[in-house]
Amino acid sequence: MSTQDILEIKELLSTQKSIVIVPHKNPDGDAIGSTLGLLHYLLKLNHDATIIAPNDFPDFLKWIPKQDSILKYETQQTESDALINSADIMFTLDFNAFHRTGNMETVLANSKAIKIMIDHHQQPDDYPDYMFSDVSMSSTCEMVYHFLEKLDALQHIDKDLATCLYVGIMTDTGSFRYRSTTSTTHKIIAQLIEKGADNTQIHNNVYDTNSYNRLQLLGCALSNLKVLPESRTAYITLSQDELQQLDYKKGDTEGFVNYALSLNNIVLAAIFIEDKQNKIIKISLRSKGDFSVNELSRSHFEGGGHTNAAGGKSNTSLSDTVDKFISILPQYNNALNNV
Ligand code: 5GP
Ligand code: MN
Repeated sequence: MSTQDILEIKELLSTQKSIVIVPHKNPDGDAIGSTLGLLHYLLKLNHDATIIAPNDFPDFLKWIPKQDSILKYETQQTESDALINSADIMFTLDFNAFHRTGNMETVLANSKAIKIMIDHHQQPDDYPDYMFSDVSMSSTCEMVYHFLEKLDALQHIDKDLATCLYVGIMTDTGSFRYRSTTSTTHKIIAQLIEKGADNTQIHNNVYDTNSYNRLQLLGCALSNLKVLPESRTAYITLSQDELQQLDYKKGDTEGFVNYALSLNNIVLAAIFIEDKQNKIIKISLRSKGDFSVNELSRSHFEGGGHTNAAGGKSNTSLSDTVDKFISILPQYNNALNNV
């Protein structure tokens, strides 16, 4: 994003605007934290701003300041369409292509609003009028902090805004341990704590609110864990029946794939989750080192993401999807054994 872009955005935001802010479908901590962080800022400037999420988000995020103001397109389409069609500005956060918003794709693409992207995923589409894309960033929340810095707006960060950004940096970095975590990330986190973010409380709210059923589901996932030593790969499956038996709620499987990656000598991990309602298998992939699950997912599972964390899907059965995964691995064995 050039200095000229920043000047133009400052000018745009200098008078009251109607603004929509959009995260990706199945929003995670970074998507919800970054959109809410930006919302707090825009509301302070007296803009008429609304977050419209494609669908609902997990309960472990349902305490973040102003989360109850988020519209869900899935259930509030008429109201959302009206806001999108009359918006002056549209911010799209934490995704790189409109199809990542599911059913919102068409209305977003057709909108006449000025589009501003803030995102850290690889290979962004070229729809934005202003693109702030940086794949080296830990999180979109870290980018929102930099965006505010560029706008000379850091003084607007209060406890609530700091809390929102802290959530997304924490969740997207696996609590500050992934490779994308830099000294700058930690400096920003320090600033957010100084502005009032309560790090212990935030961690508790997100990670220490497990239901009994979720832990049982984790037990089920771990008992389904399989290892493919020649490919240094481990994977987990969860069938719809298993999910139903343990009263699965959105977000319950978040982080399960990391247990597979935590195995000694494993550099590629996957979880395959059956979603009978949408007739897909949702896939999460994680890797270590330079092995790119973004590439793997783009080539074989209609997805993408980052080098070490990506998602995708398959339209075949759970067992066929796993068979396909196992059958494509040998072509990566060299790369996997050189990580
Ligand atoms: P997760 O496995 O946690 O759902 O997603 C890991 C990363 O990949 C996230 O950054 C997420 O935004 C991205 N991602 C997840 N699913 C998809 C997908 O279907 N397509 C693309 N392009 N990215 C995805
Ligand atoms: Mn993110």
